[in-house]
Amino acid sequence: MAAHPLPTIDPDRTEFGFARSVCACAVCTRSCRFIPGYLVPADLARLAQHLAPGEDLCAWSRGHLLASPGALVLRQGRVFRIPTLVPARREDAACRFLTSDSRCSIHAVAPFGCAFFDDHQTAAESDRRSQRGLQAVLAAWQNGDAYAQVWIMLAKAGLVAPPPEVCRARMRQADKPSLNEKGDV
Ligand code: SF4
Repeated sequence: MAAHPLPTIDPDRTEFGFARSVCACAVCTRSCRFIPGYLVPADLARLAQHLAPGEDLCAWSRGHLLASPGALVLRQGRVFRIPTLVPARREDAACRFLTSDSRCSIHAVAPFGCAFFDDHQTAAESDRRSQRGLQAVLAAWQNGDAYAQVWIMLAKAGLVAPPPEVCRARMRQADKPSLNEKGDV
């Protein structure tokens, strides 16, 4: 099997000092179908402004985002969640921004949880980036800024995403060959 080319780096977009990576290989776009990336606070206004300039942020968010219970985090021996905003889903549970030809329709302004991660990164690098993004989300909650207010509004409206561990379990399940495939009993 041919080795997959490494993703390119886009130096024109950075967040927290990280340069975004650009990859649309099947492995990387798998996340778009099962576990779309989370937004950091800076993504909220950027996405709304890009997609619907002038539209009320709450109204826009209701049509495009979901409140996720968020990642499980271990700190000082205690496990807790940091609730995050994530893209809304299509009927098949894929990200609503994923096109029929498996491209991101908002590539230029894709959320931090998408744009700065790819399947070719080491786990250590991915963890480093994720921790930095979640730190910004946690600060938004502590300050009660728009990110937290939108999350609460979406949750009250029942616009919620499955927990990330459930999404990951579904992705792993889909990766397994079906027991009912031809030749299996
Ligand atoms: S926003 Fe774009 S990159 Fe992120 S999950 Fe959706 S389609 Fe994929």
